[in-house]
Amino acid sequence: MARIQSIRGMNDLLPAETPVWQYLEAQLRDLLGRYGYSEIRFPIVEQTELFKRSIGEVTDIVEKEMYTFEDRNGDSLTLRPEGTASCVRACEQAGLLYNQVQRLWYAGPMFRHERPQKGRLRQFHQVGVEAFGMTGPDIDAELIMLSARLWKQLGIHSGLTLELNTLGSSESRRAYRQALVDYLRPLKAELDEDSQRRLDSNPLRILDSKVGSTQALLAKAPVFDAYLDEESRAHFTELCAMLDAVGIAYKLNPTLVRGLDYYGLTVFEWTTDLLGAQGTVCAGGRYDGLVEQLGGKATPAVGFAMGIERLCLLLEATGNLPEKTAQADVYVIASGAGAQRQALKLAETLRESLPLRVLAHCGGGSFKSQFKKADKSGASVALVIGEEEAEADQVQLKWLRDDGAEQQTLPRNALVDVLRDKLNRQ
Ligand code: ATP
Ligand code: MG
Repeated sequence: MARIQSIRGMNDLLPAETPVWQYLEAQLRDLLGRYGYSEIRFPIVEQTELFKRSIGEVTDIVEKEMYTFEDRNGDSLTLRPEGTASCVRACEQAGLLYNQVQRLWYAGPMFRHERPQKGRLRQFHQVGVEAFGMTGPDIDAELIMLSARLWKQLGIHSGLTLELNTLGSSESRRAYRQALVDYLRPLKAELDEDSQRRLDSNPLRILDSKVGSTQALLAKAPVFDAYLDEESRAHFTELCAMLDAVGIAYKLNPTLVRGLDYYGLTVFEWTTDLLGAQGTVCAGGRYDGLVEQLGGKATPAVGFAMGIERLCLLLEATGNLPEKTAQADVYVIASGAGAQRQALKLAETLRESLPLRVLAHCGGGSFKSQFKKADKSGASVALVIGEEEAEADQVQLKWLRDDGAEQQTLPRNALVDVLRDKLNRQ
């Protein structure tokens, strides 16, 4: 019978890969805690309407990337393509946004039906950070500082550029949209197909087009800066001054618009040229209108999400993968029924008394094959109980990494002290 395979673009994470993910997750968890952010978890499936209303009907995500299906009741449900909408929904539902400040983060799988390639999957993983209830550029700056510190902590800061833009108020966007449409309309035939369609539905998204000929047409398009209202400009100027003050470099990118409709004012992306076309590692911005759009009271909000797969690729590309750690510190070897029982008991005693990783050999086999496994485990010491040792309540201790060290035979009850001493643990 044919073997069942995983779904294209939805990868397994094998044991050889999980240590990198665990490392990243631990760094993130620690960092977010240090900035005072709390974790929130919400379901992977939501009502389709939630994403349509938040991300926007005429965005790539909603138009062609969502995993939408009818459940057995005939309700239209969607696997979450991103976390912000669900986060707002969850907070609103629990009354967490009413006259309150929230600093939140979440992590988990997201689903988009895209063409799978390096750094682009159908099930991918994001860590998202959202801050609610704060209007000033200070919280925008804090989010950027937090991400910059993460890159530094991971050793990848020199490979990343911060691109920054402001989308202004909705009024200024409206005025600019009109100017852009007036400029592009006579050139419609020269635009790529998606952009032609967007000209009526969502013209700002044309700025984000990855098609070269469209980008060339945009070179002479009106620039948003001329339409920016004073208040938005002041917000942006202050944000830039704050970043200058903390020494975070940025590149102003007036065509940065982001692929989701809910953004206004600040938008930013951390990009790299080390990952080919999938160069955006982290992206976000301000979305003051979204909470109200989803039925809540108007609430200022800003957030970002980073792609964990792309971060892993970047760690690899820059030689910053964490060092491989051994599977165990101590490997317990035994032969003979009595000896095996004692070995299991010894392993438990060690785990009880010392913060060591103790791997007890299971499944029998010759001493030789057990030693091979001990060596492969990366353990620094093997403890051996044969029939003789079992009878005399002894253990043979053999150092596996230190050629000079001698093999010793010890009384079993002396082991904890010897190991504590030699392996330098408390
Ligand atoms: P892109 O322009 O690369 O398609 P996006 O603008 O659609 O990205 P966002 O919705 O802003 O991406 O998601 C934030 C981050 O999540 C991205 O910067 C990226 O690191 C990651 N990401 C988005 N889509 C995918 C995907 N299909 N596979 C892997 N990572 C992804
Ligand atoms: Mg995308």
